[in-house]
Formats: sequence, C-alpha cells, structure tokens
Amino acid sequence: MLHALKDINLTSITDRMPRTSFLPGYELLNLKGSSQAQLHERAYALSRRNFGKEVFVRGVVELSNFCRQNCSYCGMRRDNRALERFRANYEPVAEMLIHHRPQSITDINIQTGEDPIAIRKVVLPLIRAVRKETSLGISVCLGSLSSELYAELQEAGASVYILKFETADNSHYQAMQSPGTLPERIQRIRHLVDNGWRVSSGFIAGLPGQGERELLANFRLASELPLSGCSVSPFIPGDETPQADAPSADIDLTLNCMAALRLMRPDWVIPAVSALNLSEPGAGYRRGLRTGANLVTINLTPEEIRDDYLLYKRERFIMTEERILEAISAEGLRPSKIGLAEFYRTQSLSGEAIPVPAAKVA
Ligand code: SAM
Repeated sequence: MLHALKDINLTSITDRMPRTSFLPGYELLNLKGSSQAQLHERAYALSRRNFGKEVFVRGVVELSNFCRQNCSYCGMRRDNRALERFRANYEPVAEMLIHHRPQSITDINIQTGEDPIAIRKVVLPLIRAVRKETSLGISVCLGSLSSELYAELQEAGASVYILKFETADNSHYQAMQSPGTLPERIQRIRHLVDNGWRVSSGFIAGLPGQGERELLANFRLASELPLSGCSVSPFIPGDETPQADAPSADIDLTLNCMAALRLMRPDWVIPAVSALNLSEPGAGYRRGLRTGANLVTINLTPEEIRDDYLLYKRERFIMTEERILEAISAEGLRPSKIGLAEFYRTQSLSGEAIPVPAAKVA
C-alpha cells in the first residue's frame, strides 16, 4: 500500500509551495492502518508549514430553509413537505453578531437554502449592518443565483462565496438532482472568481452512486477550478429524502479525501466540517483537524430556528465556541488572529503572498 504514497514526496515540497501536480489514485483514497496514518501526517505537516498552528475561526448563521432546488440528498429540498420552513429576522442576528459574538471569530458565513427572497429581505440587510458596524470578514453560501444578485451581495460587503460542485461527474450530478446542471454550476464558480470573489467549492464523499470514476473526477475538477479553498463533506443520509436509507459515508474515505486535497494544494483553506462528528461521533472532527484542515466553524444560528435547518437529521451536533476551542486546543492548534477574508486580501489566487507596497516616505 505504501507505494500509493510515493506519488508525492513531501520533502520535495518547499515551504509555502502553493500547488503540486499531485492527483490521488483510488488506492490512496482507500488507505487504512499505518499507510493511512502516514498520509494524514503528510497532509497535517503541509498545513502546518503553510499556516503554522493557526486555524481560521468563522461563525455560521443559517437564515432560511426555503429552497427552490431539489437535491435528492438534502433535507431542505423543495419536495420535503414535512419540513416547517422559516426565514429569520435579520435584526436580532445583526444585534448578536455586532454586540454579542464569540471573541474567537474573525469571519462569518451566512448560509441559506436557495432562496432569493431571503437574500433580499434578510441576507443583504444583515451584510450591510455587519459591514458598517464590524470588521468581520463575510462569506456567503447561498446557492446558484443570478449575476445581479451576486453583484449586490458583493457590493453590500461579502467577499468569499462557498459554492460546492457537489459531484464532478455529469450523469451523477443529474441523478442526484443537484442544482441546475454541472456545467452551469462550474460556470457560476468561474463567474464569481472572474468578478473578484474568493471561492471555496467542494464535494460530498460517499454520495449514493459514487464509484471510483465519480470519486476521482472530484479531484480533477477541483484541481482545474480557480479556487481558494475546497471542502469534503461526508454524505449523511437526510431524513425525508430519497436517500434516507442509503449508508453514511465512510469516515476514513472522507478523511483520506481531505488529506489528498491538502497534498494537491498546500495553500488551500480546507474546513473541518461539522458533519465529521456525525460520521464518527466524538472523534471525527478532531481527526479532520489532524488531516490538514485549517478552518473551523462555530454555529451561531439562533436556537429557535436551528432544528429546522435540516441538511441531514434532526439530531445535529452543534459546534459551539466551547467545543471548537476545546477541539483545536486538544490538537495543539490555536485560533488565527488574522481573519479569512483578510488573509485572502494578502494572497494572490495562486497562494503566493502579495507584496505590500512600501509606505511612501513624506
Ligand atoms: N443552497 C446553497 C447551495 O446550494 O450551495 C447552500 C446550502 S446547501 C444545504 C449547503 C451544502 O450542504 C450543499 O452544497 C451540500 O454539499 C451539503 N449537503 C446537503 N445535504 C447533504 C447531505 N445529506 N450530506 C452531506 N452534505 C450535504
């Protein structure tokens, strides 16, 4: 099995090397035991070389579970009539973010189902208020929207867009009823980058129907896109979805995918997603931090609406500030004082530091 690791020689990667020509094979993604441990150590070492012990800490607020899409794996799909739908009021959320947010967060991520009404009524006013009153970096994860709406969000003050391609195989994408078509989703990612956004994308490991071909396609597509970050989420069968009876993703496959992304792109921001803890209760999240992740997320969604933001199941594992800080400190890591949006402002798209012009001497 070890020969799968010979594809990449860590010592040949110089400090702050932004990208490698590495693409994982199927064998590497299925490593277990000591070869897997070695893979994860290599990914972890690359993260530390590029980012030190710091991890970015972002707060997420989930503000609407209305969705016009019908992804067969997602509990918020429009055909799920069992779900009580909500749109949050932006004022209390703004008040919390401006005056009562956890000290450790430098950025927020605003997430909704694909709901243009919520964007106008809730998201845009919230971004304007946060931009005016705080220096928080603002990420959004709002789905496939029009270029006009993207421009309004950017104008309001958001600078990072999370738009996952979900699965990089055309027919698999269609079978999963993911938003629109795969070429359209990719075109949107490119459009966002062309218009000055930093884009993080991603895919779901262990989706029903994902064989070797579909899995490997995700790495090829990720390597071709102009991304600043990429995530791997473990598939968790969603209640009230056509995939409710499918098996959950294998945690080892998910972590190996994360490690492979890190080997491909030492400069990428790779999140430890909270679903890792559903995949392996009690340990999955911390294993993600040991596999090259350098972004963690504190859930700040108001309690009264959190249960209805249903990606998977009603029993969610809520990542509070306390849990996040405990997990990162247990792994010898610490919250970054530099925010994610601020970090991106100082890096070129290829991951190199942008030289700061010398201050003018009067
Ligand atoms: N509507 C927005 C969009 O399309 O990007 C953002 C919200 S959507 C719920 C966020 C992400 O949740 C999706 O991109 C998908 O990858 C993930 N997701 C949904 N259901 C999932 C499941 N059952 N298992 C793992 N990830 C899932």
